[in-house]
Amino acid sequence: MWLVIGLAMSEKGEDGRDKAWKYTKKLEGERYFRCVFCNQVCSGTISRLKHHLAGVAGGMKACNKVPADVKKEYKLVLKVFKDDKNKRSIMLREIGEGIGVGSSSWTLMIVMIFMWVWMDMMIMNWKNEVQLLFSN
Ligand SMILES: [Zn+2]
Repeated sequence: MWLVIGLAMSEKGEDGRDKAWKYTKKLEGERYFRCVFCNQVCSGTISRLKHHLAGVAGGMKACNKVPADVKKEYKLVLKVFKDDKNKRSIMLREIGEGIGVGSSSWTLMIVMIFMWVWMDMMIMNWKNEVQLLFSN
């Protein structure tokens, strides 16, 4: 879950918006945004436009005017996103089975993930401190 959030965050530009927004435009008086390349109206979320740019079916027709490099970029973004989601859910299931909890013990699972992330952060901090010690 955190990895997915992290990945989604890394997709944001400096202004905090998703980078894919730069491939959209909005006409005055319109509620929807349009693909900047082919002018097609997108009535959904930015993720729908990403699918459109990548040429993957996802609610919109694939873009026929998107530059090859942009297309490749979003193909990769979507693939990584999907792979990661799958990996995470498999991992979560394995953790759940490992400690013998059913799907009713989500709270315990969330606590465990939290601990895991927290430990990760502690290790990172510790590494930084060690680095500081040696660089002085
Ligand atoms: Zn398009």
